[in-house]
Amino acid sequence: MSATIIDGKAIAQEVRAKIATAAAALSKEHGIVPGLAVVLVGSDPASEVYVRSKSKAVIEAGMRSFDHKLSADTSQADLLALIAQLNADETVHGILVQLPLPSHIDSTLVLNSVDPGKDVDGFHPVNAGRLATGQRALVPCTPVGSVILAKTIHPSLSGMDAVVIGRSNIVGKPLAQLLLGENCTVTVAHSKTKDLADVCRRADLLFAAVGRPEMVKGSWIKPGATVIDVGINRVPGEAGKTRLVGDVDYKEALAVAGAITPVPGGVGPMTIACVILNTLRAACASAGLPEPKI
Ligand code: NAD
Repeated sequence: MSATIIDGKAIAQEVRAKIATAAAALSKEHGIVPGLAVVLVGSDPASEVYVRSKSKAVIEAGMRSFDHKLSADTSQADLLALIAQLNADETVHGILVQLPLPSHIDSTLVLNSVDPGKDVDGFHPVNAGRLATGQRALVPCTPVGSVILAKTIHPSLSGMDAVVIGRSNIVGKPLAQLLLGENCTVTVAHSKTKDLADVCRRADLLFAAVGRPEMVKGSWIKPGATVIDVGINRVPGEAGKTRLVGDVDYKEALAVAGAITPVPGGVGPMTIACVILNTLRAACASAGLPEPKI
């Protein structure tokens, strides 16, 4: 048996097309063009690539993109002043501060200064609290994308045993909250979990968000389980080049799982699609409109 491969690239493209249709309707019916401001401090090459693809996706969806590229020696006070200005700007519905920030800047302080209604990364404690209490919230993009991918295999996740490996504020914790909201029985495993392989073998749905190349072996996977690999790890490849692998040993998992996301081409493209989705959601909420149906 070979697992169904969940094509994150194709699914992200479908989601982006639906967002573009909803954004066009929002503009036509309410005169609102959703706008995303992306703030990049410094010139980390990976961040620059990521920011460029976000801006391109925003424009393709018929939205406005406002890029703010600041030098690495920008002071914390200047960055906070820019965020205050973006918070007050009615054409900006979403604000995204690209991480990591330079070490002289307090990232938590900066992220907490973003208006929670414009916090398209869903990192603000107000959004984390709303998610945890089942209220309308802007939810971190990678967990949202991961759940959308799982639901392409199981339209209802209700009653399923879900295991999330990783408990970061960005991925593991919000993912666990989303899965609870989908009526899964959720186990969150982490670096101090005993018998991780055993815990994973219970999962109908296994989400790996660790950052350790190919850590999850085929023998850890329940036959037929759906595996969503969030990890992105660069490892040495052939001829002195590097290649990307996930947290799951893909070859081994293919033979055991019922469905699996590849790396690259799985969760990654969904994260970008969900940034645009959150910008649309923020624009709708700011006008007192209901959640867009995507
Ligand atoms: P993080 O370092 O903040 O958290 C890693 C988590 O893994 C921690 O909670 C830790 O307890 C757990 N962990 C570490 N070692 C472990 C072990 N041996 N056994 C069990 N658990 C262990 O990382 P993060 O920001 O949550 O990201 C996790 C992975 O997801 C990384 O590879 C990152 O690159 C990737 N990521 C991908 C996307 C995407 O768009 N696909 C987005 C964000 C993060």
